[in-house]
Amino acid sequence: MQAQTETNQATNDGTENLDVYSSTQAVIKEALTQLGYDEDMYEILKEPMRVLSVRFPVRMDDGSIQVFTGYRAQHNNAIGPTKGGIRLHPDVNEDEVRALSMWMSVKCGIANLPYGGGKGGIVCDPREMSFSEIERLSRAYVRAISQIVGPTKDIPAPDVFSNSQNMAWMLDEYSHLREFDSPGFITGKPLVLGGSQGRERATARGVAICVEEAAKVKNLELKDARVVIQGFGNAGSYLAKYMSDAGARVVGISDAYGALHDPKGLDIEDLLERRDSFGTVTKLFKNTISNKELLALDCDILVPAAIENQITKENAKDVRAKIIVEAANGPTTTAATKILDDKGTLIVPDVLGNSGGVIVSYFEWVQNNQGYYWTADEVDARLQEVMRHSFHSVYDTARRYHVNMRVAAYIVGVRRMAEAARWRGWV
Ligand code: GLU
Repeated sequence: MQAQTETNQATNDGTENLDVYSSTQAVIKEALTQLGYDEDMYEILKEPMRVLSVRFPVRMDDGSIQVFTGYRAQHNNAIGPTKGGIRLHPDVNEDEVRALSMWMSVKCGIANLPYGGGKGGIVCDPREMSFSEIERLSRAYVRAISQIVGPTKDIPAPDVFSNSQNMAWMLDEYSHLREFDSPGFITGKPLVLGGSQGRERATARGVAICVEEAAKVKNLELKDARVVIQGFGNAGSYLAKYMSDAGARVVGISDAYGALHDPKGLDIEDLLERRDSFGTVTKLFKNTISNKELLALDCDILVPAAIENQITKENAKDVRAKIIVEAANGPTTTAATKILDDKGTLIVPDVLGNSGGVIVSYFEWVQNNQGYYWTADEVDARLQEVMRHSFHSVYDTARRYHVNMRVAAYIVGVRRMAEAARWRGWV
């Protein structure tokens, strides 16, 4: 086991391994070992049970046809249907989608949701496409994967660069194909189509709850605490608002093009007004700093809310925050986690930190199944209950097993899945 972990920290030429797939497998293995499971269980959980790769044509506005590639990975359905978002991004690739489906299993396990993990992706750049091209793309993708998804099979949702509009088109396409109204097929829908109150902000709300709990265990007062947020998309931007509402000072934010810094605290309302739908805002300012400088800013709490592999063994030593709450998936590498652990930084891992999104997706699906809808306060109260409970079960597990919160999150997250697989007689 030890050898396995080490190979995931460095490649043969000594450079850092940034492969999210093999590092995810290593943590799953470590968690199963801690739980006393043998190689057979790892064999089942180390890869998704099903991965579909599709190519489908889409007519572009100029009349030409472009063929897109998409994926849908379903990690494990021992607990129930698989669940997870669909990302629209030029860097989407099969290994990433596979890893992300495993992370979804762990997230659902931590929050005790009756799901396994799934994930989808389309290789495309929606920032360069028109509204109607994105509509045709969304519909064509659903037609391509329709055989393996459904409200009791695999339930998609938004992810990077996809939103409630994509979900509405996908729902509409699916309902046409199946010839019945099927709101539980997908979550993250607009309210009028069976969406849930609070879903749009759910990821950020969950991160904010983790920040509160982490601050408590670190004896840090949230009022006036200095917060840096990398990324100003759905999670990052709403989180900035939650943090400034809680009296914290958001001293740095960034997008893909640069970062803004003000030690007195940035004007978040103004930035929220001016950001575009992809979270771009820094282009409007002159005195920007780089993302690298942003991560090294003097602050109490750092929230990476952008993309993978941002805190690496190169820059981990420069990070000054006492608490890191991962809102993005996979922002901290294995080697960086080790450096930060040694410094005493508390890292709340992605599978816990950003699980607010899938938790409220579950609430949305429950409401669709019941045909009975909850108020915003009811959703928030239930989200708080699940998030705070999840945080403390991971925190307590870390102490009990003498491991960091990432390994603890996997211990909590894979436990139910492994148990379910055993009851079903798969192992
Ligand atoms: N894409 C989000 C995630 O990675 C949400 C998934 C969902 O709501 O099913 O957790």
